[in-house]
Amino acid sequence: MLNLNRRTVLAAAAGSLAARALPAFAASPYAFKHGAFEVTVVSDGHLVLPTSFLAPGAPPAERQAILNAAGQTGDQYQSPTNITLVRSERDLILIDMGSGDRFIPSAGKLWDNLKAAGIDKAKITKVVFTHGHPDHLWGTVDELDDLVTPGASFFVAKAEWEFWHGEDATRGLPAERAGFVTGARRNYAAIMAKVTLAKAGDEIVPGLRLIDTLGHTQGHVSLELAGGEGVIVAGDVLTHPLISFQHPDWKPIADHVPDQAIATRQKLLDRLATDRSKLIGFHLPYPGVGLVERKDGAYRFVPAP
Ligand SMILES: [Zn+2]
Repeated sequence: MLNLNRRTVLAAAAGSLAARALPAFAASPYAFKHGAFEVTVVSDGHLVLPTSFLAPGAPPAERQAILNAAGQTGDQYQSPTNITLVRSERDLILIDMGSGDRFIPSAGKLWDNLKAAGIDKAKITKVVFTHGHPDHLWGTVDELDDLVTPGASFFVAKAEWEFWHGEDATRGLPAERAGFVTGARRNYAAIMAKVTLAKAGDEIVPGLRLIDTLGHTQGHVSLELAGGEGVIVAGDVLTHPLISFQHPDWKPIADHVPDQAIATRQKLLDRLATDRSKLIGFHLPYPGVGLVERKDGAYRFVPAP
């Protein structure tokens, strides 16, 4: 007898749409070895954002020059979304979950792209979130609010969890983004029974630990892979390939605590340029992997070959 629950009906509907367009990301994803770890960067697609989000308070002529240099002269620009997957001896660890299907149509491609790369999401054992914005968190649940990776345990910075569940969440955001709070709470609710509230210094697995990078949000964290010069998965500390490096003191609209975000950005850039750690930037051009060099009193991003 057919068991026609809502899920099978939805799956059937999705199947009938398909002779299926090719996955958005058919090529093999960018991957590299780091000691015993294998690191893969998979695209979740991209966001389409108003260009006015990019440091609206910066000096207009300098701002225009850098937008010209970035080829971002229209009213909107595309911001890539890169998800990092770390394979250790025992675990398959995803860092952030992408946008899912309720944020923006050009994003939420992670699961298709993982599948196209031959990676089974059912094998993901751990998920770590850098912060609670939609493009990092809303892919946690599917269209029925069920977990996409039911086999995983989850790690959220305690300060981030408390921020999104507290009264300051709506007070700290522009009114048009109140939906961010609803969405964060919906996705966090789904992981409630499986979440560990973590803090800077905590290890997810031996050699992979959280570091504080506060300011983009109240509890924003990055991840550090030990060994060699190290790898930093920086979340949204550095969100633009030119502005974040040449003008770390400019204020992108998405930073919740702008002055703290600036201090964090400068500290991380100084560290990356000094230690020569590899950077993975969530919103840098795919795969967002590269090194940071000092240049003209500031920095520049040098994409990995
Ligand atoms: Zn983001």
